[in-house]
Amino acid sequence: MNFDLSSMNSYVLIATAFAAAFLATLWVSLIIWTIRDVRRRSKDPMARILAVLIVALLFLPGMLIYAILRPARTLDEEFQQSLEEEALLQTIEDIPLCPGCSRKVQHDWMVCPNCQTKLKKKCHHCKALMELPWNICPYCGTTVPGMRKETTPLEDMLPPITPTLFDDLEGQEQSTEVS
Ligand SMILES: [Zn+2]
Ligand SMILES: [Zn+2]
Repeated sequence: MNFDLSSMNSYVLIATAFAAAFLATLWVSLIIWTIRDVRRRSKDPMARILAVLIVALLFLPGMLIYAILRPARTLDEEFQQSLEEEALLQTIEDIPLCPGCSRKVQHDWMVCPNCQTKLKKKCHHCKALMELPWNICPYCGTTVPGMRKETTPLEDMLPPITPTLFDDLEGQEQSTEVS
């Protein structure tokens, strides 16, 4: 009976020692994990100290509180997110809007399908799409017909109309002179 009791006591002692060692290791591990985790999630030194204190003082319940209150995203994830948002914003800004009805249109549309506003024009030489205010094709260098090039004299731009017009005028002048 005596022997049994002492052996029981020693078993309990060993078990208790193991449990204590396990709990102590768990406690230290939790603190180390919290230090690492909070470092990745917050730059605020106060928040870091507070997180470690909560876990150190309250142990597992403190761990639970930290898990609930910690920032959802790590600083890395937040940085990635901000980059993605910026990229998304950029693409949204890049989507052209119809000047007539402000709906989204594609870069290669010539006419708005909704309000039929003319959006682009085609180069008559290489058929590339051009912005409406452009007077010269950026792809092949052809000037838009009807637009005056600096070097082109006005008479060259209007060959079929001007001679007959001037002839008529001259004819009229001559006829008035004759009569
Ligand atoms: Zn439109
Ligand atoms: Zn062209």
